[in-house]
Amino acid sequence: MFLNHFFNCTFCKAENKIKIEEDDRGTLQMKKGDELPYTCLSCHKKDKIHLNKIFAKSNKIILYLSVLVSIISLIITLKFGLIAYLSFSFPLLVYAYLNSLENNFNSYRIKTK
Ligand SMILES: [Zn+2]
Repeated sequence: MFLNHFFNCTFCKAENKIKIEEDDRGTLQMKKGDELPYTCLSCHKKDKIHLNKIFAKSNKIILYLSVLVSIISLIITLKFGLIAYLSFSFPLLVYAYLNSLENNFNSYRIKTK
């Protein structure tokens, strides 16, 4: 939900999206092994992609939603200075959280044999 995962096709280099539930490559490796089979959406060739070549990007929709929530709550609570101030920091917290998830996935590399 918070992260989307991608890899580049080994044949045509097109960016493919891949659905991963695990938080990091280590957990992924334990469940699925070192490589994941895929069919490229662009050139339709089949291959396997190494886990270290899969990278995560945070879901920007979550961030946009948090900005929206912040703006709405700002309008509603404009009379109350403190709450308005808190609602401003909400998207920043969300942004920090998404970044930490993204870094967590991308920085952890599985050991190659
Ligand atoms: Zn391809």
